[in-house]
Amino acid sequence: MSLDHYIPRCHGGPDEASNLFPAHSICNSIKNDLMPDEFERVKKQLYQQALDNWHIKRKDKLIVARALEKMQ
Ligand SMILES: [Zn+2]
Repeated sequence: MSLDHYIPRCHGGPDEASNLFPAHSICNSIKNDLMPDEFERVKKQLYQQALDNWHIKRKDKLIVARALEKMQ
């Protein structure tokens, strides 16, 4: 697990409890520095890309595949 910034730090998101929530490390790296609305628009595509193209651990592949299923 990792700590995700809802509003990314590079967009001025603070290190405060209201802006932080736990996320799978893999989900967090897929979201990267996108703002919530930007991420909403492209998340299915990003997760599919990660699944198809990234060299990720088997355990992480399962996490990404499950997250993708929930989006459909
Ligand atoms: Zn996740």
